[in-house]
Amino acid sequence: MSETKVLTANIDEPGLHTIEVYERLGGYRAARKALFDMTQEEIVEELKSSGLRGRGGAGFSMGMKAGFMTKGPMEKYLCCNADESEPGTFKDRLLMQKNPHLLIEGIIIGALAAGTGRAFIFIRGEYETQAKILDAAVTEAYEKGYVGERIFGSETTLELVVHRGQGAYICGEETGLLDGLEGLRGNPRLKPPFPAAQGLYQGPTLINNVETLCNAPLIIEKGAEWFSSMGIDKSTGTKMVSVSGNVQRPGNYEIELGIKARDIVYGLAGGPPDGRKVKCWFPGGSSAPVLIDEHLDLPYSFESMAEAGSMLGSGAIIVVDETQPIVPLALRLAEFYRHESCGKCVPCREGTNWTVKMLERLDNGEGTPADLEILDNIQENIIGNCLCVLGDSMAMPIRAMIKYLRDEFVQHNEEARARRGLGEVSVGAAELAASSEAGPA
Ligand code: SF4
Repeated sequence: MSETKVLTANIDEPGLHTIEVYERLGGYRAARKALFDMTQEEIVEELKSSGLRGRGGAGFSMGMKAGFMTKGPMEKYLCCNADESEPGTFKDRLLMQKNPHLLIEGIIIGALAAGTGRAFIFIRGEYETQAKILDAAVTEAYEKGYVGERIFGSETTLELVVHRGQGAYICGEETGLLDGLEGLRGNPRLKPPFPAAQGLYQGPTLINNVETLCNAPLIIEKGAEWFSSMGIDKSTGTKMVSVSGNVQRPGNYEIELGIKARDIVYGLAGGPPDGRKVKCWFPGGSSAPVLIDEHLDLPYSFESMAEAGSMLGSGAIIVVDETQPIVPLALRLAEFYRHESCGKCVPCREGTNWTVKMLERLDNGEGTPADLEILDNIQENIIGNCLCVLGDSMAMPIRAMIKYLRDEFVQHNEEARARRGLGEVSVGAAELAASSEAGPA
């Protein structure tokens, strides 16, 4: 099994981060083509026909998003979401570090599609090295006249600013990002209005992930047909996957969408060490519901992962092998989301807190017969009831863990209870059977 290197074709070229090397390898041709040979509508149409879907998590068509931008003379914006904070995800870091001009070229094309002259890159605060590299690349692009006034000698202006976040996960949520960019505390906004109608400073705003924008120059240069010839169903093109956890060769891989997940986990990443089995895996970052070994034979695509009850998300595959206890993992996950919850809505603020408390009890052997059912019920009441996706991001994977690994939750509690000499086991086999029948599947 090998990678399909399209975005990463030149990634190991020395000096690729400089404008000189990037241009020598054909860089900025697509931006010129979009600027001088295509209309705004043609660019949008090309992006639509390519089938390019957002690579940050939601998987929404980039062309459709650009097409939704409110038309008119008002100030419009493009925001590149480089706040890559989803645990397990580190693909945008590689693209920005090694090939920053590909992103800048993608932003030029995205801005032309959106009809905007102002663009921002909102980069995760912790990505200091990548921010410096981007800053240097943006300066080079300004000096060459590829961004700024009269780009490439045309009548078009595009100002581009790199803005560093302050370390809040919630600023990866698109409206939290807009608040952060405006200098406010990063709180998600109610939708509608969607950013394409009312986003940054109340103006129509196109928000795209780094990897999504990096695909735009390739589509403009090689054509939508070329792009859509790769992939499966409505999952076209390639995808950067960040593989981590219990695998022998963790790292970033670029794959054609639709290859078997097993080919990624075992073929590319080498599978768990010492012949251990996969207990469960996150197909799209820590907020994707976990799947189990049998799902590794499914095609890795937006549709297939959704049909299996999960999501492709950001393309971060986290592998958990049979030696990892599930309760501490669930607890760690819940603690993360509790910490990152902005507290604006009750189901997320209270739900993440209660979930942590209940998992602590199960981890310490203090669980009661009703705990698993209540824990599952809390997750059910969080899902779909929050203002943004953060609450669901904790509840969905934890619910999936209970669904697939219920016995282990019970056993973990019983063993901890016995270890601590707490007397009678409280979540026993009979209670398990009762809670399995009573609790949601
Ligand atoms: Fe804030 Fe959580 Fe509500 Fe999102 S779901 S708005 S993070 S409290």
